[in-house]
Amino acid sequence: MTNEQTLILIKPDGMKRGLMGEVMMAFESAKLKLVAAKVVKVEESLAKRHYAMHEGKPFYERLINFIQGKKYGENRILALIYEGEDAVKVSRAIVGATDPEKAEPWTIRGKYGRRTTDGEIENVVHASGTPMEAKNEISLWFKNDEIWKI
Ligand code: ATP
Ligand code: MG
Repeated sequence: MTNEQTLILIKPDGMKRGLMGEVMMAFESAKLKLVAAKVVKVEESLAKRHYAMHEGKPFYERLINFIQGKKYGENRILALIYEGEDAVKVSRAIVGATDPEKAEPWTIRGKYGRRTTDGEIENVVHASGTPMEAKNEISLWFKNDEIWKI
């Protein structure tokens, strides 16, 4: 068990639908500690850096547009950092599988995510996939002095 931090983003679909409280409640129930939070307007350059690993994939362009909120005219994102034992793995379990149709029904994506008729995945939240990813993503979204030191 290691003490870790992980990046959680409530994506534009979650913001538009007012699911912020619901999402945060799930992390609180898992005893993860909130150490940073801010509402961010996602610019194209940040969207591209955040999803750089998916560049060239068939869903890339739509993903970059979606995370900027272009689809619903909602460009706020709530960026959160949670800290705790195995925070990355625990958070991924809370969030559920990428494809909402495959996500367990008690996970955030299982409850609230959807796949649109044109094949787009709207899955409400982002959670870092690995501790290394978490470190990189946290430095993209937050300055050091915006993060609470436990
Ligand atoms: P995220 O990084 O957003 O937390 P994830 O780590 O579960 O999601 P990734 O493989 O990193 O999944 O994919 C990033 C995002 O790209 C997904 O959240 C989803 O919106 C989109 N995506 C991934 N795979 C597909 C796919 N096969 N078809 C359509 N969209 C996809
Ligand atoms: Mg990912």
